[in-house]
Amino acid sequence: MIPSILPTYNRAPLTFVKGSGSWLTHADGRRFLDLGAGIAVNVLGHAHPGLTKALTDQAQALWHVSNLYQIPQQQDLADRLVANTFADTVFFTNSGTEACELSVKMARKYWHDKGQPKRTDIITYDGSFHGRSSAGISAAGSEKMTQGFGPLLPGFTHLPWPGSDTDHDATAAAITDKTAAILIEPIQGEGGIRPLPDQCLKGLRDLCDEHNILLILDEVQCGMGRTGRLFAHEWAGIEPDIMMVAKGIGGGFPLGAVLATERAASGMTPGTHGSTYGGNPLGCAVGCAVMDHVANPDFLSEVNRKAALLRQKLEGLIATHPTVFTEVRGSGLMLGLKCVPPNLDVVNAGYDNNLITIPAADNVIRLLPALNITDEDITEALIRLERTASQVAT
Ligand SMILES: *Cc1c(COP(=O)(O)O)cnc(C)c1O
Repeated sequence: MIPSILPTYNRAPLTFVKGSGSWLTHADGRRFLDLGAGIAVNVLGHAHPGLTKALTDQAQALWHVSNLYQIPQQQDLADRLVANTFADTVFFTNSGTEACELSVKMARKYWHDKGQPKRTDIITYDGSFHGRSSAGISAAGSEKMTQGFGPLLPGFTHLPWPGSDTDHDATAAAITDKTAAILIEPIQGEGGIRPLPDQCLKGLRDLCDEHNILLILDEVQCGMGRTGRLFAHEWAGIEPDIMMVAKGIGGGFPLGAVLATERAASGMTPGTHGSTYGGNPLGCAVGCAVMDHVANPDFLSEVNRKAALLRQKLEGLIATHPTVFTEVRGSGLMLGLKCVPPNLDVVNAGYDNNLITIPAADNVIRLLPALNITDEDITEALIRLERTASQVAT
């Protein structure tokens, strides 16, 4: 008999009933140190008082009105995102997947309105993850996600991950008079914490400029302070034309956004796109509270300090457990440990030690802690990772 929840997830037998900071309390009372943060979502940890207050204050005033009307909280959040990024304009969604949908639509509409309606193709890269809608799986293209779900959305060209500084030949060769945009994650998340070198992101920006095509960045996982800058592309000193945001932006409340320049968004006139819930008062009130913290330079410099501390400790862990871990990679508090044993064995051994990590492709475990994780919790994380490593090594 089919379970009452459609069985699309491989769930761990863990049930959390309460959270505080970087800690989760299991139904049986055990306390777990959470280095996953709901897959990079709980950027301020669990039960953050400021976010709880923003949510409950708004809940007592007004939950939902629809985008038929003005929504001050949405305006406030859009203004803050515009003030703090490359973007001139923002559309709010409920998820990263919906942000992908709009990004694809926006890029195609841009060229349509420019009188080049055949310019619809979007270049994407192997190992990417852009969500589970038909556009999202078609964009990423991996068989694991697409098999059985055809016909897929046409108009995506899949290239190998341009993992080295100079490896843009394949991308340059793939650009044609049908190419509308390049879509890429500055750091692949699901793909196994694979960072694009800054030089490479610069190179892709140059290619887009040279061919006058749009650069779409998927910062759903690597954005919102995760790498120690508000958005990961800032490290490369470049700006996208369109950017997908979600996960951390709501701190645990379902919220996403597409940020764009005026030029890239020029086709999106009244009536061309919409969402019932996207940008509703509850989500945007929480989003503003998240921005209060994450867009603050002092907060970001703390993220960088903690990231350096964690990374240094992880280098030590690798040195003492070379038969378990071979590499630490990533940026800021978006880190991956490449495993020797199957990564799921390591994740499961973590559970035995009341530690939460998240598996990714390429046999990696991801460490995506709350951005306000304390130094004490980083120390405790290493103690538990040590125990976990010893357990799987034997
Ligand atoms: C999670 C994720 C998505 C999809 O976001 P959802 O909110 O699950 O729809 C898209 N892109 C990246 C890079 C992600 O990590």
